[in-house]
Amino acid sequence: MKKKGWIWLSMVVAFSLLLAACGSEETVQEDETGTNEDNGSSEEVVQDENEEGLTITTSFSILGDIISQVIGDRGTVEYIVPIGEEPHEYEPVPSDFQKVSDADVFYVNGLDLEEWLESILTNVTETEIVAISDGVTAIPLEGGEEDDPHAWLSAKNAILYVDNIVEDLIKRDPDGESVYRENADAYITQLEELDAWIEEEVVEIPEEKRVIVVSENAFKYFGADYGFETEGVWDINSHAEGTPQQVSRIIDLVNDLELPAVFVETTVNQDFMKQVSNETNVPIAGEVYTDAVGLEGSGAETYLEMMEHNVNVFVEGLTQ
Ligand SMILES: [Zn+2]
Repeated sequence: MKKKGWIWLSMVVAFSLLLAACGSEETVQEDETGTNEDNGSSEEVVQDENEEGLTITTSFSILGDIISQVIGDRGTVEYIVPIGEEPHEYEPVPSDFQKVSDADVFYVNGLDLEEWLESILTNVTETEIVAISDGVTAIPLEGGEEDDPHAWLSAKNAILYVDNIVEDLIKRDPDGESVYRENADAYITQLEELDAWIEEEVVEIPEEKRVIVVSENAFKYFGADYGFETEGVWDINSHAEGTPQQVSRIIDLVNDLELPAVFVETTVNQDFMKQVSNETNVPIAGEVYTDAVGLEGSGAETYLEMMEHNVNVFVEGLTQ
């Protein structure tokens, strides 16, 4: 019996190997076809480069705006995650893979913001991926094992992003150096003005009220640079969101600190902050932008505008 069983197993193994061999032959054929197609599209990209400058794809709208400011008319910028959706757990669709494979470079935030990067890497192999938060002093998430990705919410970090973008663009398009540097310098001046303006504005808020309470605790970098404590019902969108324990912890905190206002983001389910507001009788002073710029007509279509909007909402809410 034993021997018979062993023979049977050998046959199964042999058959599996045969199947695997057939499978890998098919894979090779597919690869060959894929390679041919890829060659075709990279030729097209070279032509596009000559005619229209660099084609940049990035992960979400805020980076899209920052990159556009630096590249100006010398190229085109597209982003993946639609405004209104959050960029952590987005699920890319085939047209997104196309956008990335058509681009000269795919700029991501990094710091593990784009949890869907794996699916881009699986479907697009030719386009280089560059993290533009390089050099940021990372703030850890709760538990300390991962970093919080929302570095762009401090204007000081946005300047660092611009430095990374301009150096990378020059590497890819050396003829554009003077244009990129000029655009970047002008934009950095605006970012420095924004930074100084924020520091002036927040002085109006009594020190003990400088606490930002939102759904996702995304303002850690903003808080560290402009002197706020920050709290969220949850720490980051890709972790647990809105358990009863998380909600009641925030309700207790808002009551204990006697805060005059809480806030809610444009890219989350707002039910949780509504519940916090209802149970504490503390108003939601306004919507704030964390993971996307505003829709057209919102007055917060750019990074500079969304940051000004956020600061105005904080100051108005917390000085009541
Ligand atoms: Zn977020």
